Amino acid sequence: MSRTAPLLRVPHVDPDVDHLADAPSLAGGEVESSQLEDSAFLLRATLEHMDQGLVVLDRDHVVRVCNPRAHELLDLPEDVLRENAAFADIRAFQNARGDFSLMPPATSAVIGGSDARRFPLVYDWPRPDGLTLEVRRVQLADGSSINTFTDVTERRAFETALRESERRYRLLAERIEELSQVDELTGVLNRRYIMQALRDELARSERSGEPCAVAMIDLDFFKRINDRFGHPIGDEVLRSFAIAVGANARSMDRLGRYGGEEFLLVLPCIAGAQATEAVDRLRAIIAGLDWSAISDDLQVTVSAGVTQARPNEAVEDIVARADAALYRAKDAGRNCVMGG
Ligand code: GH3
Ligand code: MG
Ligand code: MG
Repeated sequence: MSRTAPLLRVPHVDPDVDHLADAPSLAGGEVESSQLEDSAFLLRATLEHMDQGLVVLDRDHVVRVCNPRAHELLDLPEDVLRENAAFADIRAFQNARGDFSLMPPATSAVIGGSDARRFPLVYDWPRPDGLTLEVRRVQLADGSSINTFTDVTERRAFETALRESERRYRLLAERIEELSQVDELTGVLNRRYIMQALRDELARSERSGEPCAVAMIDLDFFKRINDRFGHPIGDEVLRSFAIAVGANARSMDRLGRYGGEEFLLVLPCIAGAQATEAVDRLRAIIAGLDWSAISDDLQVTVSAGVTQARPNEAVEDIVARADAALYRAKDAGRNCVMGG
């Protein structure tokens, strides 16, 4: 294939003149050439007015067709991007100008080269002038290629903004979900979610055959603490209690606020007797804390009832049994733990 023969040989068309309207009617052999001219005119007009840049390279990497939009989008002078220009010369011009400087180095090494057949069939080209072009290549069997350039700057910016707002929305949804599980004052699970955690643990325990224990822990004479030290100090006590239990329980244990000053502790993989011992250790830690750091003369103790779940038992029944054990602990004088 000769380097100088353009793929499309089209007459120059002035877009302001309606050539077809003034065309005389032709007969015989003239019809064919007139139809060819019409097609060429339409083709030229299409190339001139289409919104995409178009560059057709032949198999020797020589430009055979390019349209005005390609000049505009690629910001190339007429004497660089023109029919019969060698693609290697265009690339040399673009490389010298740094047209690929915003691409990752590995990508720009390929795309900055002059072998168009090695380029991806579709890629985004972030350009130093701020545009983002989407480049698409249709590779023809004879080795030539049709390359289109579409300005996707606004679309990509919109997609990025959309992704960012989706990310924020997801974070917000996670945060809302998190907040809906947590008791605002103490930061432990709220009643609904500690009951759910208990249900989950019971299901796990049924599957694994491991035991699961539950403790109901209640602060002793808390009404008196409020009355004597004030409600804000009472709140501080609840927060400190939750922190102390959280810090001293096993990481797999789950603590939730069941009601005002009553907390439910779920102790997976542990039988009733060991759980009672573990909760008694927590009780001793609470009783031994230096509560005067919160307020002079403040002392806090807790009582607890502990029980082990039985197979196929309803959560309400387990909690009721732990509660009954808690009341025995209260009756026994408080600051103690009873198993049940
Ligand atoms: P017992 O040893 O028998 O459990 O006695 P108690 O005083 O702890 O029990 P009671 O049920 O009589 O009182 C519980 C108190 O807990 C009453 C209520 O005002 C208080 N309380 C419940 N929720 C909160 C809270 O969020 N903050 C504060 N400061 N107090 C609370
Ligand atoms: Mg109490
Ligand atoms: Mg209570």
